[in-house]
Amino acid sequence: MKKEFAVIGLGRFGGSICQALSEEGLEVMAIDIDEDKVNAYANIASHAVVGDTTDETVLKSIGIRNFDHVIVAIGDNIQASILTTLILKELGVNDITVKATNDYHEKVLSKIGANRIVHPERDMGKRIAHKIVSNNVLDYLELSDEHSIVEISANHKINGQSIIDLDIRAKYGVNIVAIKRNKEIIVSPQANEIIQSQDVLIVIGADSDINRFEKRLL
Ligand code: ADP
Repeated sequence: MKKEFAVIGLGRFGGSICQALSEEGLEVMAIDIDEDKVNAYANIASHAVVGDTTDETVLKSIGIRNFDHVIVAIGDNIQASILTTLILKELGVNDITVKATNDYHEKVLSKIGANRIVHPERDMGKRIAHKIVSNNVLDYLELSDEHSIVEISANHKINGQSIIDLDIRAKYGVNIVAIKRNKEIIVSPQANEIIQSQDVLIVIGADSDINRFEKRLL
């Protein structure tokens, strides 16, 4: 059976989640207190409903318990976000993802049992800053406070050298998990794989070790 999603709050964040899930062909119910927002998503989501989700009867009448995953994307109104999450939890919704606006908001959300808490602005800010400061970094995914997966462009300095020549794991403590070469992806490359200057290396490791490796490329 297909998973069913409900997105509460159709601002920029909730709206784009709703659109992306619909484009994946998934069943999505869009909910917002603002009728104009709901009308804007009427043709995108499978169902679109006007309602104040801080009102338990509204959530019950929608049958929110039957959704596999509910995303709370109420932005600035922290009180409404917390209250909505609390009611979802009390009604027994299994999987709840909530957008947090700040650290206090996050703390409360984790206390009341939100399964996943996201900080889109903060995370995107960090990603962009990282790309701005290091020329070779194309993208990065934070795994923990100290570990990441980073896409780094190779360059002429390491062109023609094998992974073993560079001795990346021993010298820098990072692992190359994949190499993007044109349209091809070499997953778990062998130690004798020769790096080309146009390659994109996908490396995993501690941030400090990845930084040392990036400097090797400068
Ligand atoms: P973003 O920063 O992602 O654009 P916004 O704060 O602009 O987020 O959007 C949040 C959305 O949540 C708005 O469309 C707003 O109408 C909706 N919203 C706010 N409070 C409630 C509520 N109690 N019930 C349902 N939707 C709500």
